[in-house]
Amino acid sequence: MRLRNIPRAESVLRECKEVVKNASEHQNHWKKVFGNDHPVHIEIGMGKGQFLLALARRNPEINYIGIERYSSVLLRAVEKYENLSADMQKPLPNIRFICMDAREITEVFAPGEVEKIYLNFSDPWPKARHARRRLTSSDFLALYDQILTSDGTVEFKTDNRVLFDFSVEEVKASSLFELTGLTYDLHHDSSMNAGNIMTEYEEKFSSAGGAICKLVAARKGSAAGCI
Ligand code: SAH
Repeated sequence: MRLRNIPRAESVLRECKEVVKNASEHQNHWKKVFGNDHPVHIEIGMGKGQFLLALARRNPEINYIGIERYSSVLLRAVEKYENLSADMQKPLPNIRFICMDAREITEVFAPGEVEKIYLNFSDPWPKARHARRRLTSSDFLALYDQILTSDGTVEFKTDNRVLFDFSVEEVKASSLFELTGLTYDLHHDSSMNAGNIMTEYEEKFSSAGGAICKLVAARKGSAAGCI
């Protein structure tokens, strides 16, 4: 993602009440933030927000939290949210945003507070010495295990085959997660693609002819069947 310093990002994010400040203060109290006890699904690295906004519109009975570490990128998602709310003449009630690094995720969510984690087109960190920074590395899987419900899942999409192969191996080697879904060509896999919402990156890569890979990983011991 090309980053630009956008001076107004900080003030726009500060003013937007759906951007949760001091997110760790809400650990174990996300139901209170939303004012209901609907399940919470999060996207880590939400980028410009197209995916999560579409999900939030489609599923009013699920609460969504978009996490993005760069304010200049989150600004784009928040602007999209504000335009959508203006079009709909009311704000979408089931979405919030947090500007943070996913490394701190266990300080923000208590055990069992998240039902699903979406990772879409995560940064590849191609150098082997940076492998632990990949959002599907065993280090991150261990963090996700701490915040997910017992039947919680991680859904990961990417066009990057090297990152995908690494991610499949990390899940297979994990004592915490098991693979419950796998495709190397999402858009031509009718069951895995059912209900798919494309992200900004997904539109870009698939319109250039690239195949999209997707995996679903469930916490071990959950009811979901291993493949
Ligand atoms: N999901 C979007 C954007 C993909 S680019 C899409 O599919 O279109 C990956 C995004 O993840 C970037 O915006 C990057 O800033 C963010 N990101 C990468 N590592 C992160 C981390 N550790 N914590 C939070 N966000 C992260």
